[in-house]
Amino acid sequence: MQEITCEIKARDSKKIKGGYPLIDKRAIVHPELLKEEGSILNLIDENGQFIGKGYYGNQNKGIGWVLTRKQGEGIDQSFFDAKITKAFRARSAYFNNEETTAFRVFNGEGDGIGGLIIDYYDGFFVIHWYSQGIYTFKDMVIASLQQWEGGYKGIYEKKRFDTKGKYIEDDDFVAGVRGEFPLIVKENGANFAVDLNDGAMVGVFLDQRDVRRTIRDKYAKDKTVLNMFSYTGAFSVFAALGGAKKTTSVDLANRSYAKTIEQFSINNIDYESQDIIVEDVFKYFKYAARKELKFDLVILDPPSFAKSKKFTFSAAKDYTNLLKDTIAITEKNGMIVASTNCSAFNMDKFKRFIDTACKDMKRRYRIREEFSLPGDFKTIPEYKEGDYLKVVFIELIG
Ligand code: SAH
Repeated sequence: MQEITCEIKARDSKKIKGGYPLIDKRAIVHPELLKEEGSILNLIDENGQFIGKGYYGNQNKGIGWVLTRKQGEGIDQSFFDAKITKAFRARSAYFNNEETTAFRVFNGEGDGIGGLIIDYYDGFFVIHWYSQGIYTFKDMVIASLQQWEGGYKGIYEKKRFDTKGKYIEDDDFVAGVRGEFPLIVKENGANFAVDLNDGAMVGVFLDQRDVRRTIRDKYAKDKTVLNMFSYTGAFSVFAALGGAKKTTSVDLANRSYAKTIEQFSINNIDYESQDIIVEDVFKYFKYAARKELKFDLVILDPPSFAKSKKFTFSAAKDYTNLLKDTIAITEKNGMIVASTNCSAFNMDKFKRFIDTACKDMKRRYRIREEFSLPGDFKTIPEYKEGDYLKVVFIELIG
């Protein structure tokens, strides 16, 4: 692989020396030297001093990631073996837990290699490649997985690096044996059906595990639950398992209907006693307000950006209004679980959205629970943006 010496501007080299892992395009003195993705970048500061070694790989976040700060360390098989083995061993409590068989085993820069994510679904690895650059190390990453002491059944991959950073449609099977889908995995004793070879998303977002358990164990009993942006209905399943009176799941995507029925069914919940609605949530808010429907517990988990026929939604701009619509259809003393995976704002700002929405709607509230990423989604303090998940349980008072 080609190696390029790459001078970093003074302000940015200070950041990198302090542990910042992302290489910003604007930080590079001669970006025109970057040609081949996957090139190793020898990063030097304005005095020509070595500050780190990284790789070139275009993502919407930056143009590459720092891999080591040791000048003598090679980016070779033993580098990948060491990083991957260390990350997997740190998840031994997850590997040994029979109640939860799906979790993240390698979390990008949090585990030392930005742009590379690996999830585990009951014996199957799913590798997410976030740039053409990191993909050039594919053979070494696969070889590291193949020597993993815990063994595995099969390996799948998601190539997330077309021109807009989107998933590239393909047969995602890589090695080992093919799985039979749906594959049923466990999460805190509940079942999830996943398909590792059916597009970009497999059927469950693993980062909400602790939130789902909390809803089931502490807040769902005897409640009417509305799950907005429900996808495959994972929150609804946990609410139903926790004894909810009834759940209502709303998602715009046609696929969500059959997928939600499937998730209820494999958990022995009669889906016919639940409501599963394929509709734009913004239309549903209007409908519910007109019909004077009210819910005890409303879960809000929108994408950071979404475009539907009539509405565009941006979490950073529109979350306050989304909360106001929600408050309007929440019962007295009801609860709202507000979630966002938007890395453009932090928890403090999210709480300001919540405060503004409650004040505008003249409702008092108390924050009952707060969540960020679970332990398997390892993050580092030097890269705050990596800690994207924010979930707040808001109890309305009166
Ligand atoms: N809460 C889900 C994950 C949500 S992913 C879970 O826990 O699994 C975001 C979902 O929002 C997608 O399924 C997408 O189809 C849906 N979506 C996006 N815009 C929407 C809209 N305007 N109305 C309803 N659903 C929407």
